[in-house]
Amino acid sequence: MSILVVGSVFFDSIETPHGKVDRALGGAATYFSVAASFFTTVKMVATVGEDFPRDEVEFLSKRGIDLSGLQRRSGLTGSWAGRYHEDMNQRDTLDLQLNVFADFQPQLPATHRDAQYVFLANIDPHLQAMVLDQLAAPGVVGCDTMNHWITESRGALEQLLGRVGILIINDEEARLLSGERNVVKAARRLLAMGPKRVLIKRGEYGVIQFSPDSVFAVPAFPLEEVFDPTGAGDTFAGGFMGELARSGDMSERGLRRAIVYGSVLASFVVEDFGMGRLRTLTQEAIEHRYRQFVSLTDIDGV
Ligand code: AMP
Repeated sequence: MSILVVGSVFFDSIETPHGKVDRALGGAATYFSVAASFFTTVKMVATVGEDFPRDEVEFLSKRGIDLSGLQRRSGLTGSWAGRYHEDMNQRDTLDLQLNVFADFQPQLPATHRDAQYVFLANIDPHLQAMVLDQLAAPGVVGCDTMNHWITESRGALEQLLGRVGILIINDEEARLLSGERNVVKAARRLLAMGPKRVLIKRGEYGVIQFSPDSVFAVPAFPLEEVFDPTGAGDTFAGGFMGELARSGDMSERGLRRAIVYGSVLASFVVEDFGMGRLRTLTQEAIEHRYRQFVSLTDIDGV
């Protein structure tokens, strides 16, 4: 099964304690799509300006990403600049130019309306709802958000959560949205808002999945050096939902495998700036790290 994603395609200028990069390909929909493309075909719905380079279009197409829902409009592609602290869980946004993304209205081509697997990356919850309104009968809907929408559009976001199966957010957002400091209590509150599952991303501490009757946690892969955490969350979501769409296995076991694949993809993306590592990544490297991941917490097999 293919997977549909809607979200941002931006240029990112990033500074971390390890160096910097200027106007690298970024955006939540981009990270998600490239990660998911290792598992299945991806239909990307987003908008870029006239300045979006042909070779990046080629890169995305070569990864099997369907760009018929990518609107190219007159104006400039959105851009974001951020600087990470020594503690790379902390970052400051230095600049955000939404440009053509400012009045983005997602319009799904007819070929996209029967999508079964859908990921609503971090955009205005009104637009996320607009995407769902255009779909015939979506099966698995994943959703992300950010602090800005939690505080500025809480009503729309809460309504949307009633239509979402899997909420994938970070711990800070989970606390803000639920009003609970403790992650377990926060997850319980979020489940009561509608989603069947809540996945809480905890940066270098990994991911915890909560459903009404189960809890599952994986650590982040222990790396000696994290170069750039940008897009790790979206890359996780791409690996996770890509694997779900590939396997069609929504059992607890299938979901747990998908969470490990998501964590594997996220562990690669942070090894280089921007999308760098995903450009050279191979299927073999993914499978190798998947096995390493499983043995990381294996007790009975030793
Ligand atoms: P993450 O590191 O998972 O928060 O994702 C970072 C990505 O989100 C970067 O590639 C940015 O281009 C993109 N981004 C930053 N600000 C926004 C925003 N306001 N709306 C949508 N995407 C954004």
